[in-house]
Amino acid sequence: MEFVFAAPETPAVAILDSTSRFPVHRIYCIGRNYADHAKELGMSIDREVPMFFCKPNDAVVADGSFIPYPPSTSDFQHEVELVAALQSGGINIPKADALRHVYGYAVGLDLTRRDLQFASKSKGLPWDTAKAFDKSAPISAIRPASKAGHPLRGTLTLEVNGEVRQKGDIADMIFGVPQIIHELSKLFELRAGDLIFTGTPAGVGAMKRGDQFHARMENIGELKGAIT
Ligand code: MN
Repeated sequence: MEFVFAAPETPAVAILDSTSRFPVHRIYCIGRNYADHAKELGMSIDREVPMFFCKPNDAVVADGSFIPYPPSTSDFQHEVELVAALQSGGINIPKADALRHVYGYAVGLDLTRRDLQFASKSKGLPWDTAKAFDKSAPISAIRPASKAGHPLRGTLTLEVNGEVRQKGDIADMIFGVPQIIHELSKLFELRAGDLIFTGTPAGVGAMKRGDQFHARMENIGELKGAIT
């Protein structure tokens, strides 16, 4: 095929102990998936219907990167999350069948311009400018489930400048990974290469220029970076 200009490169994520990379198709995120985080934002939780939003696939940022402080915000916040990476997909995927679509897991940050998010919420407007901006999805190398299995519990931690900001356990997720895949696949056709950010525990907060972050997901991996 001949394009009118060079097609953009496929965004990709590293895989632990491998030179192969995971090509990113789409990035889905779930909101309000831990009760303590919903509470800190003053939001109610819905245990029946999950709330989803998306980021562009080229928002991924590799481990060890410098991330420029984004424009048009004065409240740039971290949300540490377990990320599921899909190797296959489909529509209307049954919950019992969901985990076979997961290639592996990573730890990521759902970076958020919180001031823009609050403004959007108060006006009933979409969240894209708050969530889907450039470099808003730093992510660790993916640990294949074929090696580490599918985690049902484990500590998710974020330190900023060596101070613990967020600490939670993925066992406290309101919607677990199989249910998230099931629900998402009722709304979108899931595909190999999709990443799913599974929500953040309490302790979200602001980062400023010069801050260094260190995210860890027990038995999965870690992610470091700095804001410039
Ligand atoms: Mn989030």
